[in-house]
Amino acid sequence: MKAIRRFTVRPVLPEPLRPLSDLARNLRWSWHAETRELFQSVDPERWTDSDCDPVRLLGSLSPERLTELAEDRRFLRRLTAIADDLHDYVTGTRWYQTQTQAQDQGGQGAELPAAIAYFSPEFGITAALPQYSGGLGILAGDHLKSASDLGVPLIGVGLMYRHGYFRQSLSRDGWQQETYPVLDPNELPVALLKESDGSPAQVSLALPGGRSLRARVWLAQVGRVPLLLLDSDVEENDLGERGVTDRLYGGGSEHRLLQEMLLGIGGVRAVRTYCRLTGHPAPEVFHTNEGHAGFLGLERIAELCDKGLEFEAGLEAVRAGTVFTTHTPVPAGIDRFDRELVARHFGPDAELPRIDVERVLSLGMETYPGGEPNLFNMAVMGLRLGRQANGVSLLHGQVSREMFAGLWPGFDPAEVPITSVTNGVHAPTWVAPEVFRLGAKQIGAERTEDALTVGGSDRWDAVADIPDQDIWELRRSLREQLVVEVRERLRASWRQRGAGTAELGWIDGVLDPDVLTIGFARRVPSYKRLTLMLRDRDRLLDLLLHPERPIQIVVAGKAHPADDGGKRLIQELVRFADDPRVRHRIVFLPDYGMAMAQKLYPGCDIWLNNPLRPLEACGTSGMKAALNGCLNLSVLDGWWDEWFRPDFGWAIPTADGTGTDPDHRDDVEAAALYDLLEQRVTPRFYEHGQTGLPDRWIEMVRETLTHLGPKVLAGRMVREYVERLYAPAARAHRTMTPDKARELAAWKSRVRHAWHTVTVDHVETSAPSLTAELGSTLSLRVRVGLGELAPDDVEVQAVSGRVDSEDSITDATTVPLKPVGGPDLEGRWLYEGPLSLHRTGPYGYTVRILPAHRLLASSAEMGLVAVPSEDVGEGAGVLMR
Ligand SMILES: *Cc1c(COP(=O)(O)O)cnc(C)c1O
Repeated sequence: MKAIRRFTVRPVLPEPLRPLSDLARNLRWSWHAETRELFQSVDPERWTDSDCDPVRLLGSLSPERLTELAEDRRFLRRLTAIADDLHDYVTGTRWYQTQTQAQDQGGQGAELPAAIAYFSPEFGITAALPQYSGGLGILAGDHLKSASDLGVPLIGVGLMYRHGYFRQSLSRDGWQQETYPVLDPNELPVALLKESDGSPAQVSLALPGGRSLRARVWLAQVGRVPLLLLDSDVEENDLGERGVTDRLYGGGSEHRLLQEMLLGIGGVRAVRTYCRLTGHPAPEVFHTNEGHAGFLGLERIAELCDKGLEFEAGLEAVRAGTVFTTHTPVPAGIDRFDRELVARHFGPDAELPRIDVERVLSLGMETYPGGEPNLFNMAVMGLRLGRQANGVSLLHGQVSREMFAGLWPGFDPAEVPITSVTNGVHAPTWVAPEVFRLGAKQIGAERTEDALTVGGSDRWDAVADIPDQDIWELRRSLREQLVVEVRERLRASWRQRGAGTAELGWIDGVLDPDVLTIGFARRVPSYKRLTLMLRDRDRLLDLLLHPERPIQIVVAGKAHPADDGGKRLIQELVRFADDPRVRHRIVFLPDYGMAMAQKLYPGCDIWLNNPLRPLEACGTSGMKAALNGCLNLSVLDGWWDEWFRPDFGWAIPTADGTGTDPDHRDDVEAAALYDLLEQRVTPRFYEHGQTGLPDRWIEMVRETLTHLGPKVLAGRMVREYVERLYAPAARAHRTMTPDKARELAAWKSRVRHAWHTVTVDHVETSAPSLTAELGSTLSLRVRVGLGELAPDDVEVQAVSGRVDSEDSITDATTVPLKPVGGPDLEGRWLYEGPLSLHRTGPYGYTVRILPAHRLLASSAEMGLVAVPSEDVGEGAGVLMR
């Protein structure tokens, strides 16, 4: 019978057990093993049945068990100790506080923000709060957790999806099946944000046609960090609006636009409400993880306009405190909306009525060659609204600068103001308890915890002293646990696919705890090439079934529900793995998610990644594997391009950038992969040295831990964000008072209008000929026209360096020239400066004029530059050989 209404009956905990409820509601348990062990000891069986979710566990306990526990003195002592530990964790002094104290005492510390709001369309914190689809969400979760560990005052902002992302299963013939279980927030580890009178706090957005979109706000406590999740499923909404937060990345573009308006605009309103109700300091910095939340900037401009600031000045003030992170290495991956659709949702009878719709639209305009005039581009808006912007690995930073270079015409990609902060992973979440224990045995629990959160390579050096034997035993026991886990999951999957128990005896022989184990798990967009390993099936068979040196492979991944191509790849792989000849050596596990990932990474010996370079912006699964002593075998893309070294892993050679056709490229790269496995990887694993252990393999495990350990940490990443992006953004935010914002906006407008009158008219040097001697100095004299501008508004620069065969300067150094006279009768100014020749070989220089103002973030900010025309004199661009 179907119920007509549904309630959640919450347990009433006896007074002595009250702290259990706080421990269950603070998601720190998801990365704190001791808290989890406490919950497990409450009732081991129910703990497993509740998928290790403390809230569900507490809801399932009988009154008898509760009474029993309330009288169990030993349990209560442990409970008190762990509750005290959480209290210390959330109130104590951590890294950030020591930084701000150093700053108060006049130290070197930067001016750190009082608070930072961090927006993301998804957050992967724990399997018990399934509000993520893949890497972007897990990264956001790891960012919050590390911010909490470091004491960084972050407020997370996201959406509460009624169905989260889908659950994946397989049909008998290997086709992906999707289900969308309903999540009832009342049963999740979240609480409603309430007004002081006890009513639920709400935010509201105006929609076209007089409708409105309301949302309540759920609060998840992630250690010290609050996470606000907006939920449109409230009775006051019409049916359509109730469904806005139904699922992650579902629906058509209007649906997505509403989600993004709710996240960005509603999110800022939720942050304001949260700060009003709790007294939390207001954020000085707003960080948007990918472009989806970009409307947050518009809402903040509107707030300032309400206080009397003009739009352009509001834009400057908001930009100053905004950080935008891009994760997309291809234009096709960027979020874009129909211009008309956006236009309809803003303006007099929709949202932000006081902002001119044309101004909104111009922020997302693709004003570069090849740009689509009718599309509104969220990444472009992100870059226009964010004074600080970054990609997520060194390589991705470079790719992003090239991809967006059109927004800064006249500048070399290297000068495009997009930097990079390489992603990291939250070690306490991703390191297996067994690995942690080995660390604790070596250097103590506290120092191990420090090494995993704050970092510092000296702590990781201790890995060098761990005996081979201990490392090898650890690796084997992790592999063995994975084998058990895989068999369980595979059996469940086959039952689901319609097999009877009697048919499944073979599953007891699936995988072998002594065979080299390779993991491959990630979402299944085509660039990740799930099926590259199947390119030459005979070679793969030989590897799987090798008599002395076999490999075994565990594969997992979800295809986007609308991506039939991805589903075909999964089917291809599943069918191969179903073959009785190999099914004991290769498995596909459905429903990849955090719970599976946490078991999978530690149990693998090799983590395989073979994307089409350079389409993997960073990738993080290999980092999580590395922290558990699993070696990486990967294409040099994302983070691996940056940190790969042959003493701890392997690089799969690639044919990118060679113009090779895609099919042939797959052949070449797959062959390289098989070669590596046959000739390098398997011999190293199976060759045992004099001690009877694979000592050369163990050495690579050790190198992985000592070299990659301190680098791949989310703690390192969050510290970089604080020091390199949040601190400058906070400084700029404080500098940009309404008066300064007005001043900058007015100046920019004047410079933009006058820029066509700025010219480099004549360049001459003291160079006698086309050759010059190393160490000599030439003097440059340049005549420029500044039109209505004055020397104070510009910088005239000499740019010099090595030139390539096309006369492009490849490693430019810039030196400002000084005004020495003028204006002359024609209104021209004379600039001079030295040009020292500090390199031998082909050398060139040129001159350019850039806008200059003390409030600009960089001289490229406005995308304006004046360079010499072809015939400006003997000197410009001359090569010296
Ligand atoms: C880490 C992680 C990802 C991201 O992995 P990539 O290699 O970056 O694609 C995706 N899903 C889950 C469940 C993860 O834990």
